[in-house]
Amino acid sequence: MALTFDKSIAFHKEAVEMIPGGVNSPVRAFRSVDMNPIYVKEAQGAKVVDVDGNPYIDYIGSWGPLIIGHAHPQVVKRIEQALHRGTSFGLPTELEIEMAREVTKRMPSVDVVRMVNSGTEATMSALRLARAYTGRSRILKFVGSYHGHSDGLLIRAGSGVATLGLPDSPGVPKEVAQYTMTVPYNNAESFTKVMEQYGNDVAAVIVEPIAGNMGVVPPLPGFLQTLREITEKYGTVLIFDEVMTGYRVDYYSAQGLYQVTPDLTTMGKVIGGGLPVGAYGGRREIMELVAPQGSVYQAGTLSGNPLAMAAGLATLEQLTEEAYQKLERAAAKLAEGIIQSGQETKIPVQINRVGSMVGLFFSDQPVTNYQQALQSNNDLFLKYYQQMVNEGILLAPSQYEGMFVSTAHTDEMIEQTVAIIRRVFKKLATE
Ligand code: PMP
Repeated sequence: MALTFDKSIAFHKEAVEMIPGGVNSPVRAFRSVDMNPIYVKEAQGAKVVDVDGNPYIDYIGSWGPLIIGHAHPQVVKRIEQALHRGTSFGLPTELEIEMAREVTKRMPSVDVVRMVNSGTEATMSALRLARAYTGRSRILKFVGSYHGHSDGLLIRAGSGVATLGLPDSPGVPKEVAQYTMTVPYNNAESFTKVMEQYGNDVAAVIVEPIAGNMGVVPPLPGFLQTLREITEKYGTVLIFDEVMTGYRVDYYSAQGLYQVTPDLTTMGKVIGGGLPVGAYGGRREIMELVAPQGSVYQAGTLSGNPLAMAAGLATLEQLTEEAYQKLERAAAKLAEGIIQSGQETKIPVQINRVGSMVGLFFSDQPVTNYQQALQSNNDLFLKYYQQMVNEGILLAPSQYEGMFVSTAHTDEMIEQTVAIIRRVFKKLATE
């Protein structure tokens, strides 16, 4: 029986009158799957209940932060303890030191870290710092990557061989866009060529070490190593944007997993445990330029907020080596189930997975970059998505987003999810 969404529909009707598109972040509008947004009532562990009372197994996980599930008792407890002491002081607290200790321990490339309030702030600040450190203006990013919505990062590739960027949104001046160069992800050759021409002017190369905003696209063997070697050669700052991958794919994040050491790292999501957080950090020599130690200005009324620090610390505490093994097993089981369902029904499906990030593309070709991701079948995704929601599986409403598995996903939930995927694939195969 189809689910009903009467309350979600009524809420949205009111919301669109007062909030752009009815939502405070565009993808929540569910436009790419042609649906009304689902309004949440509450969530616990891996389960979400919407305002109409429909229960779901959730693979959105707030787009990454909730790696130990919703409302984890330890997170709730730590937030509560902090809450009663006051929500914000504009003065330092011990929690910030605890967080810095944890971050520098788990990311050996990070000697010094500054907390901010979002991933967007983290990448924007890291780029400013890299420009100050090098005295250069240009930056380089990869096509299909997302690093937040600051002007210089909302850039698409220019046409033809031109690698200079064009604004991806009205309101971004072309004068700003021209400093951002873009090359295809996973293409070491084209990266090297661009750096041969422009390297001495490039302040920073910013990369998602595992691309997570074009679906899940892991780095090809040697790709990240090439970025490291070439940036070193030209004195360019290498920034790993680990806002999504940080503390998710491995105890030591993507940089530990692939054994490549960036100069700076941007973080967010998991280290906020579901509260607003970002951070950037790296080599002492570079970070020393940040104010007030140095002269690169960057500040925040709520930065290092005690509730966010408490939630993040409680989350990191749960993320032991064993927790990552558990995530690996659960996500592998999910991925295998999808692959088998594809084989049984002859639905062409590609699964890209690193740890608990699971990407699904309806395509018969491997997906290693944005161009290939775009070639996957969106009509099929739309049908799949709507049926999955109706069966009680909550996925990100876009083929270009992964599924996030949490430690709260039990074996039984994964089995249930796979059984539903198999059923939905069978239906899709006969339509
Ligand atoms: N970098 C990456 C890799 C991200 O995935 C995101 C958000 N999905 C951001 C930066 C921006 O973070 P925020 O939404 O917290 O500003």
